[in-house]
Amino acid sequence: MNEYALGDSMLDLSKQDKPVVLIVDDVPGNIQVLASCLKDSYQIKVATSGARCLELAEISPEPDLILLDILMPNLDGYEVCKQLKQNEATRHISVIFVTAKDNDKEEEKGLSLGAVDYITKPIRPAIVVARVKTHVTLKQQYDLLARMAMRDQLTGLYNRHYLLDAACRKVARAMRHRYSICLLMIDVDHFKKINDEHGHLIGDEVLKGIATLMDTCSRQEDVVARFGGEEFVVLLGHCEITSALEKAQYLLDSIERLKPGGIDVTVSIGVAELSSNGETFADLLGRADLALYRAKESGRNRVEGS
Ligand code: GH3
Ligand code: MG
Ligand code: MG
Repeated sequence: MNEYALGDSMLDLSKQDKPVVLIVDDVPGNIQVLASCLKDSYQIKVATSGARCLELAEISPEPDLILLDILMPNLDGYEVCKQLKQNEATRHISVIFVTAKDNDKEEEKGLSLGAVDYITKPIRPAIVVARVKTHVTLKQQYDLLARMAMRDQLTGLYNRHYLLDAACRKVARAMRHRYSICLLMIDVDHFKKINDEHGHLIGDEVLKGIATLMDTCSRQEDVVARFGGEEFVVLLGHCEITSALEKAQYLLDSIERLKPGGIDVTVSIGVAELSSNGETFADLLGRADLALYRAKESGRNRVEGS
């Protein structure tokens, strides 16, 4: 099975759908010629202007590759490519220029704007198919590596590296726009005993079960991460301490009811809200960790606020 983890928003390595190619040309006949070479292997989206290309690049299904004409009225292909590469949401999409401009200077200009390749008209279908295939494959491999680098291998949750990166951005945004964010630090109770009594493989299944539950219970904007061995962190955006404590209690109760592999498992949770007077994410983590320590000291299977 080519699946990395359970849960919809977790990493799924088996991308079932055909890759998406967006064909952009102001002459519909040119689009038809390209589409007929590629339609069997790709989902085809089309645009007859640069402006429409920029719109479609951000609409799901997001293109893996754009075949971009250069000579178009209003926004030409060079300008479209420049804007795609300046936009965080579209910069990773591969662009191949397809153009009648057949000279070295133009080709050099196209490549310097971030295009991965340059095809001249009249097109030779077999060459287009081969080049598109190469660049779509490279793009998919790059995307896969990028996704794997942010994920924890066992659970499919975000890893600590991604959490720290995302948290810095989220803390800065929360400070700037003056809204609350909270952090839950969750540690499995007596997990060593579960490993000792049932073995490490069952221990792994317990961690996966808890991870899937936490991921399912979270909102799109929350970051759910595996922080270390049997420790997890949930970063809640636009959330004040009262709601965070309720959310923590809800998670704690749900995990207690879960019984992964028929095993009774509980967790302890420390909760802290980012203070508005210049607190760093490391400070917030430290306070959530202290609250977690208190939850452990006062008997486990409980939530403590900072
Ligand atoms: P406490 O209630 O105080 O948190 O006790 P604990 O036993 O959960 O904590 P402790 O830190 O003593 O033990 C954690 C254990 O988690 C030890 C380690 O072997 C185990 N562990 C860490 N990562 C993994 C993993 O990926 N899989 C499994 N099966 N076990 C792991
Ligand atoms: Mg621990
Ligand atoms: Mg523990």
